[in-house]
Amino acid sequence: MTEETKEFKSGRDALMNILEDVENARDRAEEEKNKTLAIITNFTDGLLFFDKEHFLVLFNPQAERFFNVVHKDVVGLSISALSEVSSLQSLIKILGPDYIKNISRKELTLKENLVLEVSTVSIIREKEEIGALVILHDITREKRIEKMKTEFVTIAAHQLRTPLSAIKWTLKMFLAGDLGKIGKEQEEFLRKTYQSNERMISLVNDLLNVTRIEEGRYVYKPTLVNFEDLVSSVIEFFKEKTKRKKLKIRFKKPKEKIPKIKIDAEKMQIAIQNLFDNAISYTPPGGEIIASLSHNKKEVKFSIKDNGIGISENQKKRIFNKFFRAPDAVKTRTEGSGLGLFIVKNIIEAHKGKVWFESEKDKGSEFSFSLPMRGLPLK
Ligand code: ADP
Repeated sequence: MTEETKEFKSGRDALMNILEDVENARDRAEEEKNKTLAIITNFTDGLLFFDKEHFLVLFNPQAERFFNVVHKDVVGLSISALSEVSSLQSLIKILGPDYIKNISRKELTLKENLVLEVSTVSIIREKEEIGALVILHDITREKRIEKMKTEFVTIAAHQLRTPLSAIKWTLKMFLAGDLGKIGKEQEEFLRKTYQSNERMISLVNDLLNVTRIEEGRYVYKPTLVNFEDLVSSVIEFFKEKTKRKKLKIRFKKPKEKIPKIKIDAEKMQIAIQNLFDNAISYTPPGGEIIASLSHNKKEVKFSIKDNGIGISENQKKRIFNKFFRAPDAVKTRTEGSGLGLFIVKNIIEAHKGKVWFESEKDKGSEFSFSLPMRGLPLK
């Protein structure tokens, strides 16, 4: 072999090697792509991918099954064109115009037996946003179980109500002396039993209210209400309890009379009562509670401030959650359901109002809410 042929041969071999490497790399890339596609295709969640120009570029088979649409009919369409596709309208509506920016989690009921949790995640590659992935997770089963649990609580609570009120009336008769004279010691025991029974009744009522809220059966009946009178009646209701605990209660009334507003008086009373009940329960004897009421043209604001145990920073996020009770609160008052503030939040929000609090551990708390002056529409 001449020197030239040798050189040519080794050059060719090197080229062949490079070609082989390229081919292998391409095969590997192809394989990776197929793997990713297989994952997307077989994924149990529905997946949609929108590019940053808001065009749909991916619609996986599970999404096809959820919406009864084939991907060929929708891939390539813009989000506004998709809102014209009847079976996708509810999804596009729930995503909203800012879906790429807003990472969110929402529920979408497609049929009675199909509830989806819709989450959006914006996808970033090399610091640049390339689009948004919409994930559709089937939560029908969880919803069904949740419904069954709620129904169970409703039935159990209803069943408890009748015997509890029978006990209440019997104890009341004993205490009033209607069933014969009772001694001091007997009276003391009966009074304690009566109070325990009252606590059980209030727990059962809380449970029933929560199930009504969750099933959308908490009906609001607005009437024109004098808000100041409503607060005064709640203070009156707790007079005995605050006296027993040696708590001072002050009510800072508004300078100007508040016009009557359209609210559900009974439900608003429950909300205010729950806030007072907490302030009383979580403030040690000798403490002070200040309720204030103010208003302007747009809204009425109520707040209740105490100098009690306060709330630790790391518990604050969960305060309005159902059944949540901070460990310090459990130590201060063993009984309590953790349902009060959940009910308050729902009542205030149903009146299109806002509720919030400020608190410092060992210093005290201030819970406030505001309601729009226009109130609820009268039926
Ligand atoms: P409950 O009072 O039955 O525990 P709530 O839903 O009314 O349930 O309140 C939830 C939790 O919020 C309480 O357990 C307590 O940890 C905290 N909390 C509410 N109000 C106050 C308050 N005024 N001071 C301190 N902690 C409070």
